[in-house]
Amino acid sequence: MSRDWALRAPCRGRNEFTPSEDDFTGQRDLKRLCSPLLAVCGPCPFHAVCIATVKPAQAFFDGIAGGRLWCNGTVIDALEDVLDDELAEPKLRAACGTEAGAKAHARAGEHPCPSCAQVMREIGARRRSAKPNKPTQPQQMELDFLTG
Ligand code: SF4
Ligand SMILES: [Zn+2]
Repeated sequence: MSRDWALRAPCRGRNEFTPSEDDFTGQRDLKRLCSPLLAVCGPCPFHAVCIATVKPAQAFFDGIAGGRLWCNGTVIDALEDVLDDELAEPKLRAACGTEAGAKAHARAGEHPCPSCAQVMREIGARRRSAKPNKPTQPQQMELDFLTG
């Protein structure tokens, strides 16, 4: 496979993207060391091919790949605007369709399966509707007034 993309990647030649186990003592230390490097991945157009090549989850990878920081093959930090599509295909598990299933995909560095994606959307919607000062409140009051 051609690795031309790697020669054009913004992280080319930067060994600190793949620290050795001797360089850090745990997740927090790895974050301190590598999270500031995530910004380099921001403009990089190779997130998906980077992840497909490194195979972080299978390789129990520590370091930066595809705009994410991985520790032992699990994402522990990421750029805000990374896309699930850049991740590996999801494995289906018994927990799929639950929050635990969605978390298992995230831990494995996969994008969520359709059932887990639906669960995540529902959780997100519930969290948003639980927030105070909803803009829908005045409209509802107006409706009550008109129908009451
Ligand atoms: S996504 Fe990040 S780690 Fe991967 S090639 Fe691009 S800059 Fe390097
Ligand atoms: Zn799932």
